[in-house]
Amino acid sequence: MQSSRFLEHNTGNHVENAGRLDAIFRRLAELEGWTRLDPRPASREEIALVHDPQVTEKLEQITAEGGGWADGDTCVSPASLEVARLAVGGGLKLLDEVCANPGNQGFALLRPPGHHATPTQSMGFCLYSNIAIAARYARETLGLKRVFVLDWDVHHGNGTQDSLISTDIPFVSFHQWPLYPGSGWYDERGQGNLYNLPLPAGCGDGEYLFALHRLVRPLLENHDPELILVSAGYDAHASDPLGSMGISSKGFGQMASLLAEWCPGAHRVGFLEGGYHPQALAQAVESTLLAWRRPEPVECPRPEKVQDGFLRRMVQAQEHWGV
Ligand SMILES: [Zn+2]
Repeated sequence: MQSSRFLEHNTGNHVENAGRLDAIFRRLAELEGWTRLDPRPASREEIALVHDPQVTEKLEQITAEGGGWADGDTCVSPASLEVARLAVGGGLKLLDEVCANPGNQGFALLRPPGHHATPTQSMGFCLYSNIAIAARYARETLGLKRVFVLDWDVHHGNGTQDSLISTDIPFVSFHQWPLYPGSGWYDERGQGNLYNLPLPAGCGDGEYLFALHRLVRPLLENHDPELILVSAGYDAHASDPLGSMGISSKGFGQMASLLAEWCPGAHRVGFLEGGYHPQALAQAVESTLLAWRRPEPVECPRPEKVQDGFLRRMVQAQEHWGV
């Protein structure tokens, strides 16, 4: 799902700007094997699957004043509310299409991103929680029982966590810690459905692939998801100016391959979150899409190939997660 309408969320020179998506669209212009869908606006009822009315009321007020800021980081332009409704609704339309046929998969190339927006406030460049609304919609409207959400953005998906905290939908977040927004420690477990892995700076392909093998694979085997939603941020890329991680573009493709290999019967849908080096972002998104078309086996790296600090966090995660 992609649309030039998402470029109309005009944040000027803000780090989360239209140039990010423009770089992706240029890079993917020749990509074959994917059907391009246009978004539709979400209804108030759909947004209410997650958000209190005050979130929209505040955005309406800022928009009526000609634009402004939802919080210190989160720019709202005159078109942003309309574009945010398209981002939510576009994700839901994508789910309708993907879930209509076995083996379908999709990727929502959208702005504004969503995983920091909580039920009660827009924050962290995010206006609405695109992926949490999609997870609730998959459950309540499409009737899917086994939905699984994975967030590999370098920041903790606090908004998704707050939106799913009272459900039994599994939510896994890998994130650099400490880093914005400060949440995401192991002991935040919700109803036992939250799985946080706070990682030290400097983790790269080896650490992420190791953690997927050792922590996420057993969860996927337990939950046997029909639908895997991925909060696909690319700010853990080695070139990213906001994160301090070291994942390569190829590494993102390998992570995507593992999900496809382990759950071949599940629908997979990515939602674009962060990623602030436009060329690296575009390359890593392409790598993800190519991997989902033709996944390749990726072995688990040996423990001596990963950082000691990372291994200590892994042990803590295994204790808290019970895997
Ligand atoms: Zn991020």
